[in-house]
Amino acid sequence: MSYPFNREQEIEACAAFLQSASKIAVLSGAGISTESGIPDFRSSNGLWQKEEVREAITRSCFSRQPERFYYYFSQLFLSWTDIKPNQGHLALADLENEQGKWVGIATQNIDGLHQVAGSKQVIELHGNLRHAVCQKCGTAKVMNGIKEKLENKMIPLCDCGGILKPKVVLFGDPLDMQEFRKAQIWMAQADLIFCLGTSLTVTPANTLLQHRRHDSKLVIINLEATPYDREADYVFHAKVGEILPVIVQKSQTGD
Ligand SMILES: [Zn+2]
Repeated sequence: MSYPFNREQEIEACAAFLQSASKIAVLSGAGISTESGIPDFRSSNGLWQKEEVREAITRSCFSRQPERFYYYFSQLFLSWTDIKPNQGHLALADLENEQGKWVGIATQNIDGLHQVAGSKQVIELHGNLRHAVCQKCGTAKVMNGIKEKLENKMIPLCDCGGILKPKVVLFGDPLDMQEFRKAQIWMAQADLIFCLGTSLTVTPANTLLQHRRHDSKLVIINLEATPYDREADYVFHAKVGEILPVIVQKSQTGD
């Protein structure tokens, strides 16, 4: 637990963790994306609170009523036109690219912002919006063309006539187990773990923490309390973009 330290001391302690860490695993969630202006659709005033939306964005609705699925899917995702990585994403990319640290990021987000920021080792536990797959012939497509079709209220189809499914993990979809196992291995190998902008309540992503080494350090940055706060070495109930860049910068200068 963090008390009785003050925030500055906590940040310095985390910077020292970073300096000595050889492998850093990161679990990121919606909180880091909302700082880039992406609405958290699970939040209390989010679209997810509407039952018809929750029922429509599912595997079974996609299979039975693709028009209905795409109607709500468009509402949720077409608004993300001009999103950019924020200071939190960029700080992680700096760790990898400027400081030469080994950083493995397992994210629950589907927006691809870690990669846009420059992070190279990213596992997208819930898929992504860059790609879609034909449900008939299995061809993978880039989402750009699909976006235009959605804007024109057309269902995106493959050349073969099959319906394209965005490569996101819907309720009722299995996770990509190969990727999930890779994330488990990253957790097991890491000597420092950052949980960023995640409530650590969404299963099975939160179960990744159970794979961590007993001697690994755990730092949580999330606006609200999480069920893992008591296990963490340091907890910041703050925005990722406010805390993480300071930790990364301090670890670089060593002061
Ligand atoms: Zn096809």
